[in-house]
Amino acid sequence: MKILLSNDDGFRAPGLVALYEALKDLGQVDVVAPEHNNSAKSNALTLHSPLYVNQAPNGFRYVNGTPADCVHIALTGLLGYKPDLVVSGINNGANMGDDTLYSGTVGAAMEGYLFGIPAIAFSQVERQWAHIESAAQVARELVQQLMHSHSTEGLPWLLNVNIPNRPRAELKPLRVTRLGRRHAAEPVITQVNPRGETMYWIGSAGPAKDDREGTDFHATHLGHVSLTPLHVDLTEYPSLSLWAQRLEEGAA
Ligand code: MN
Repeated sequence: MKILLSNDDGFRAPGLVALYEALKDLGQVDVVAPEHNNSAKSNALTLHSPLYVNQAPNGFRYVNGTPADCVHIALTGLLGYKPDLVVSGINNGANMGDDTLYSGTVGAAMEGYLFGIPAIAFSQVERQWAHIESAAQVARELVQQLMHSHSTEGLPWLLNVNIPNRPRAELKPLRVTRLGRRHAAEPVITQVNPRGETMYWIGSAGPAKDDREGTDFHATHLGHVSLTPLHVDLTEYPSLSLWAQRLEEGAA
């Protein structure tokens, strides 16, 4: 089993270190992660400045780019082999509902998926890494389970896993969920810098709007580990005929 490991919080993040420690004896695990925090960078690629790869004393390789850059570089030349699995995380904070569109953690996993490799994004629901060992243990158990069921062979897939911050014994079983929705983000925050210029800070993500039963929000709120299979095709299929009809009417 060859695993490529990345994240969006940067190569020093406790969530990445804990995940590496939990997975390292399951096979060959190579880490290629961003040098700095790249949360909310989604699938962004760096096209207009050079990328450099360096190696930390612990063997982790780090890149002055985005999470997707890291996985892209790894898969297109740096590793020199095709991993069986791409794992991203463990993120410092939830990636549920609309978060998945912004998330660099999901973006790193999605880059693997786009290259035809099964991929998992792991996030811990509340920030600050409480019970990070517990989340890493859950990640290890899931990867082992997928290995034993030969799930990494055949078609690629993309899983988004959110783990409540609880001791392992207090975590409820894994639930397969759909994405919920969030309310619009909180208002932008403005401050004035020492030179009298106005600075704008993007506000926090909104609270859950759709957290009904069956969603990732609902499951994690109850203490379950949430697993949502994702796909990449954003086409709204039920609206195809509606839009064709509208355009036809406009042309008449
Ligand atoms: Mn992050």
